[in-house]
Amino acid sequence: MDIGKYRQELRVLFDDERELIETFLVIRGLVKGGIYKTKLKCGKKGCKCERGELHEVWMHYRSEGGKAKTRTIRKEEVQEYERYTRNYQRYRQSRAELIKLHKKQIRLIDLIEEGLRKENSGIEKKLFKKKR
Ligand SMILES: [Zn+2]
Repeated sequence: MDIGKYRQELRVLFDDERELIETFLVIRGLVKGGIYKTKLKCGKKGCKCERGELHEVWMHYRSEGGKAKTRTIRKEEVQEYERYTRNYQRYRQSRAELIKLHKKQIRLIDLIEEGLRKENSGIEKKLFKKKR
């Protein structure tokens, strides 16, 4: 049982948390989901895509109520969507990391408590006796 080591670890995790929280403070604008490029037939009669020259299109996908939804996006929208969906993914990833980090912090806090109680187990025993 090394309380000093646990305290030091907790301090490091506190710095990690501060860094992580920064993500939620600096991100401006987000769109759920992601984008990808694909090739499609447009369905117009006589179009080059009927002969196998497919159209390159950008799609935006997101899940809604457990279902995947996609729609095409215009070329001039691609940059914006790319930035905002990247922000979204970074935001969600940081959120997941924060949950993991908090679990680690609580574990250390409990270990420190355990150590402190052991250090003062004599006092605890005395107090417990008095109450009886
Ligand atoms: Zn076509």
